[in-house]
Amino acid sequence: MDDKKEILVLGSGVSGLSTGILLLKKGYSVMIWAKDLPPNTTSNKAAAVWYPYLCYPREKAIPWARTTFEYIQKEIMDNPKSGCIIRTVTEMFDKQQPEPWWKDGFPGKVERPTNEELPEGYVDGYRIKSIVIDTSLYMDYLMETFKSLGGQVIQKEIKDIKEALQEYDVVVNCTGLGSRELFNDDKIYPVRGQMIKIKPTGFDEVVVDDEGPNNLCLAVPRVNDIMLGGTAQVNDWNTEVDSKDTEEILRKIKLIAPELKDVEIVSESVGLRPAREAIRLEAEKFDDKTVIHNYGHGGAGFTLGWGCAQDTVELVDKALSSL
Ligand SMILES: Cc1cc2nc3c(=O)[nH]c(=O)nc-3n(C[C@H](O)[C@H](O)[C@H](O)COP(=O)(O)OP(=O)(O)OC[C@H]3O[C@@H](n4cnc5c(N)ncnc54)[C@H](O)[C@@H]3O)c2cc1C
Repeated sequence: MDDKKEILVLGSGVSGLSTGILLLKKGYSVMIWAKDLPPNTTSNKAAAVWYPYLCYPREKAIPWARTTFEYIQKEIMDNPKSGCIIRTVTEMFDKQQPEPWWKDGFPGKVERPTNEELPEGYVDGYRIKSIVIDTSLYMDYLMETFKSLGGQVIQKEIKDIKEALQEYDVVVNCTGLGSRELFNDDKIYPVRGQMIKIKPTGFDEVVVDDEGPNNLCLAVPRVNDIMLGGTAQVNDWNTEVDSKDTEEILRKIKLIAPELKDVEIVSESVGLRPAREAIRLEAEKFDDKTVIHNYGHGGAGFTLGWGCAQDTVELVDKALSSL
């Protein structure tokens, strides 16, 4: 392999930075062009938790999720600057559930809380020891790691992929929702998520209701704060905070975590999850140039990030070997 070959990555959210880091570790030179840099990406708006949610196809998401969990455990977890911490995560249901679809993507044990351990109205749940990936720290950690390995970043929006292909033989596309315009992909759409950041209260477990009477509702205690959510509004492009959503989040959170009835709001935010019927991770030829796509991670960009990045690097290797 020509180890000085320069690869262009479009996008500096979790997908672009994770892929950039693995490309650098493989010996490539890497340049990122991104319209928005952290802290102004969608990725910064997530809480986030390792928990496969709103991501397809499931048979691919399972190994990507497992690779990501194991990579964070082995390579990242020990560094406090990463913002990764282990927490108990409970998803609760008002009906009995089969085993979770993502069970084989999780290297630990999935426990089932008893009725008595759940709030009123809930009868079943999945309880795991998972990773909270505090994006307020993790995105900076990724950027610092990328730069310390020699990666370069330029803030730059492109309107036409030809702008990138004029300068690079292989371009990795991690533009998330930006791919809708850049690649005329109407399969990608926003799923709006509003979140409230509150001061820490001592509450230290992640709780989620995604399908039950209070869906969607979650609390994610991070390193220095707690994130409360949320919403999952399909095809809603509104990035402004909606006070009705705020009221609903605060009303519902008391029902799944009564400890959070009195909270002090620090700030509110909205992010648009880049959802797609299937994550697009594949090569596309443009004459003798190649674009490797890695986008459409929906509600699971952090959960699948390292697994998708590994497969993207393999496609880059393949594209270069055929040049
Ligand atoms: C409220 C909320 C909660 C979430 N919670 C979780 C969670 O708990 N766990 C989890 O795993 N995931 C979670 N997610 C999902 C996760 O945030 C996304 O899947 C992930 O951030 C997608 O990352 P990305 O790098 O693909 O895209 P983005 O973060 O959107 O990055 C895209 C990058 O491409 C750039 N770009 C776009 N168009 C262009 C262009 N034309 N030219 C140049 N650059 C361009 C952008 O500026 C940006 O830098 C959540 C999301 C939200 C909104």
